[in-house]
Amino acid sequence: MALELTLTIIKPDAFSAGHAGDIIKIFEANQFKIVAARLVNLTRSEAEGFYAIHRGKPFFESLTAFMSSAPALVMVLEGENVIARLRETMGATDPARAAAGTIRKLYAQDIERNAIHGSDAPETAAFEISYFFPGIELLASARAKQL
Ligand code: GDP
Repeated sequence: MALELTLTIIKPDAFSAGHAGDIIKIFEANQFKIVAARLVNLTRSEAEGFYAIHRGKPFFESLTAFMSSAPALVMVLEGENVIARLRETMGATDPARAAAGTIRKLYAQDIERNAIHGSDAPETAAFEISYFFPGIELLASARAKQL
């Protein structure tokens, strides 16, 4: 097991609906430690940069409009195997297919307004963390040196 960092976003739908506290409780129950947090109101172009991998897909316009429509809470979580464990805790992209008890089953509205983002691999986590928190990799490596 490896100590990892991952990037999560409580998306505008869940944040506006008042589910941030409930979702953070789930993080805490799973030993996902919040090591950085920012409340953001993304510009369209920031949302497009974050989701650049999806440019060209039919839902890209709608997704980036949604993500820049209202405040979202962006956090870096630290924990053992936190990348995969957060993905399990989130549930499937489409809440209709998400397992019972997952964050998306509990709080998502549909396949787009699906409550939460979580990095899907170490490489994407590194890109996404640096997108919102330039310099945090230095903090993590500094902590590692102190262990
Ligand atoms: P994730 O890793 O589970 O978040 O899913 P993806 O990386 O495949 O997609 C990124 C985000 O795009 C999802 O979380 C949804 O908000 C949105 N999305 C994905 N697939 C669809 C789709 O088929 N239609 C729409 N409208 N949005 C989608």
